[in-house]
Amino acid sequence: MTLIHMAPGRSAPVLGPTPNQVESLACYLSRGGYRSDVGPAELLARAEAVDLRGHGGAGFPTAVKLRAVRDGVGTPVVVANGEEGEPGSVKDRWLLRARPHLVLDGLIRAARITGADRAYVYLSDAAAERGVRAALAERDPGLPVYVVRTEPAYVAGEESAVVRCIDGGPALPKAKPPRVFEHGVGGAPTLVSNVETLARLALLALPVPSAGGSGAGGSALLTLSGTAGAAVLTERQFGVTLRQLAVIQGTFDPSAVLMGGLFGGLLPPDALDLPLDRTRLAEGGTGLGCGAIRFLAPDECPVSVAADAVDYLSVESSRQCGVCVSGTRALRDTLVALADGRCDADGVVKLARWAQGLPGRGACGLLDAAARLAGTLLAGFPHLVEAQRRSPCPVCAATPPDAGRRLRVPVPVPATDTSRPSRSTPACVG
Ligand code: SF4
Repeated sequence: MTLIHMAPGRSAPVLGPTPNQVESLACYLSRGGYRSDVGPAELLARAEAVDLRGHGGAGFPTAVKLRAVRDGVGTPVVVANGEEGEPGSVKDRWLLRARPHLVLDGLIRAARITGADRAYVYLSDAAAERGVRAALAERDPGLPVYVVRTEPAYVAGEESAVVRCIDGGPALPKAKPPRVFEHGVGGAPTLVSNVETLARLALLALPVPSAGGSGAGGSALLTLSGTAGAAVLTERQFGVTLRQLAVIQGTFDPSAVLMGGLFGGLLPPDALDLPLDRTRLAEGGTGLGCGAIRFLAPDECPVSVAADAVDYLSVESSRQCGVCVSGTRALRDTLVALADGRCDADGVVKLARWAQGLPGRGACGLLDAAARLAGTLLAGFPHLVEAQRRSPCPVCAATPPDAGRRLRVPVPVPATDTSRPSRSTPACVG
């Protein structure tokens, strides 16, 4: 079960006032949605002024992406990317299930900024697809919007995989260049934008913009999970510390933090005072990624979690790049040996070498994520690694790798979702 946590007295513009309910068109309109008083040029300027960045993982400046697609050769295409491959993240599927009009509003505005003549919503979640189709039936978007459903996979939401799937191919990453902003769907310049990013673009178009960007006043949807307590979906202002987030989730004395889904690596307890701030996190060798953060309780072993996470990544490798197939397998086998107390000093040296040498060598970031997990484990927990090399750890023995099963977080089901009917139609409040 995943709880939705609202911070008392704090604004949560993307969660909205009723995050446990599906937002109808009437509700969305009553909250100022789809208004036309802010034009494309003004909205682009607002996105730049607040430094709106992508919330899917890379954190790239949204205004730069919009401009690159607008100024490309050919008629642009825009894509709302709701494929959420990170096992510890639920915010994108919740957003499409609960607030599809907010995402569609942002998608249509992105189309106007770039001059796109068609748009796509790309997803794998059946409930999200129903929500988006129902929203499209409620209101004519004014341009063709196609819904494309793919099979869920860790790499299916990578932007070149998105384009490949929409073009009728497999949802697998491609080598770059070209990047999709110059050669995307059908060869057209293509904006592939995370659904939360598009929601924030729509909120910036309100008469009093409520989304903010990546700095002061901005916020992010976060999926917080841990061994202790239920998982939590929340929206917090940038600046909140990891320690405060751990308390919100219910893990009061974490032994480690798994940051940014699987992309930010493992952080030791002395990183808990880091603020949610893209620059400070980057300086600390980590990142916000998709906003999924897992707190390890004192009785959970970081070695076991690293082995499990890399086991998951090795299973999810699309096996297109030889270095990824061999690299993830070698990382996985060595981390499992470490968890079992079978890793010699040479194994630890190899882990360190792979952590340095493998990033950037695959066609997508999966191999980088696996290497960062190993590298941050060695850097943040050297005494634990050394102790575990000498004798097996009972916690690791009790929690063998299971393709990341423990990392998965269930998606909240908003009321009126047809997969869980409610007794009455919820009122529009707020
Ligand atoms: S790096 Fe790995 S997951 Fe990414 S495209 Fe290559 S084989 Fe596939």
